[in-house]
Amino acid sequence: MANKADDKMSRLVSLCKRRGFIYQSSEIYGGLNSCWDYGPLGSELKRNIKTFWWEAMTNRRDDVEGLDAAILMHPAVWKTSGHVDEFTDPLVDCKTCKSRFRGDELKDKTKCPVCGNQTLTESRQFNLMFKTFMGPVEDDTSIVYLRPETAQGIYVNFLNVKNSARQKIPFGIAQIGKAFRNEITPGNFIFRTREFEQMEMQYFIHPSEDEKWFEYWKGERWQWYLELGIRKEKLRWHEHGPDELAHYAKKAFDIEYEFPFGWKELEGIHNRTDFDLSRHQDATGKDQRYIDERFKEKFIPYIIETSAGCDRTLLTVLVDAYDEDPSRGEKSTVLRFSPKISPIKAAIFPLVKKDGMPEIAVNIYKILKTQFKVFYDAGGSVGRRYARMDEAGCPYCITIDGQTKEDDTVTIRDRDSMEQTRHKIAELADFLQNAVE
Ligand code: ATP
Repeated sequence: MANKADDKMSRLVSLCKRRGFIYQSSEIYGGLNSCWDYGPLGSELKRNIKTFWWEAMTNRRDDVEGLDAAILMHPAVWKTSGHVDEFTDPLVDCKTCKSRFRGDELKDKTKCPVCGNQTLTESRQFNLMFKTFMGPVEDDTSIVYLRPETAQGIYVNFLNVKNSARQKIPFGIAQIGKAFRNEITPGNFIFRTREFEQMEMQYFIHPSEDEKWFEYWKGERWQWYLELGIRKEKLRWHEHGPDELAHYAKKAFDIEYEFPFGWKELEGIHNRTDFDLSRHQDATGKDQRYIDERFKEKFIPYIIETSAGCDRTLLTVLVDAYDEDPSRGEKSTVLRFSPKISPIKAAIFPLVKKDGMPEIAVNIYKILKTQFKVFYDAGGSVGRRYARMDEAGCPYCITIDGQTKEDDTVTIRDRDSMEQTRHKIAELADFLQNAVE
């Protein structure tokens, strides 16, 4: 089983490189462990996922505002939030083979799972925050951290956003941005990396309504993955037991996906209570309380957090869409992305490079590219061109053939069913618009 899963992941990794989704960072220097670069198709896919999240979480709602906070924050923020003292994982080394492990992930704490020797060190707490120095002097007074989560940028801007956007509780603040964690055991391709992007939303509420809003956001976030096109049977909930709950959380549920390497967390929905705002109020002396007209009282809002990883969502989308379909001949790989997030929405082909077909095809390409990410390809047999587009996850191939000149129609070949239907050229833009909405 394990081998089959490894095979599938390694075929996916090599497809990602070959087709320009994801490359190893600094590859020509031998690569940098756990860092990855998104290529032409990957960066487009990532952008589409972020836009899909942003639209759902902010633009289509009246009660959530957007934010783009700096990665570097005042170091005191991380002291207040508990990250300086508590954002640690237990680190265990093997003295024989020098492998490193997260103590909480070791099944047998007495021997090394790599070399089998009983030479593991005691576990010691390792802080996951990356440090750097601000300004020219490298001493303790100039330490700043690369943020390990985007959430704190939202908390310290709670009053700013509330006041400038004139929002009333309940309301939320959403942010997409980079986060950095010096993970002990990164791996599984882009599943766990040291630099990644988060898509987080913090919803500020009256404490008496925490159960209601927790359930509401659970429902919204579950639905979002279905709309993204992820198969329902591959998703499940995991509730954090008392020993798993983070120090700030009253309740936490993860949405998990069944990856080839097992069920793993995709996103966490957390009831963070008034922990964060209270701590920032205590540390700064700045009143974070809210005066509520409905409840006629002053209170520190509770926060319901939805915290997703963008790169992890992208891996989920790739794994979920990846299919090997032998009925398609030797090149059998298909990425069955939802058209909403496909990097390329349509490919335009002249059937042959003569009889005026390329000119018509280029014309259609030029018109469609003002609205959609489309691709023109005249090279090789049409079957090969279809196969290349299946591998890129492009949902539609538009072919200009002999009939086009007679009646202004083209064929559209559907990636998943492989069926071809005829359409008027004038209707192509509407067709694509309906498909990607
Ligand atoms: P774990 O316990 O597995 O380290 P976590 O529970 O600390 O993870 P959160 O702090 O809840 O994770 O982070 C929220 C989301 O951010 C995760 O669900 C995941 O999608 C993403 N994420 C967290 N750490 C990483 C990482 N190292 N690489 C990629 N994505 C990450």
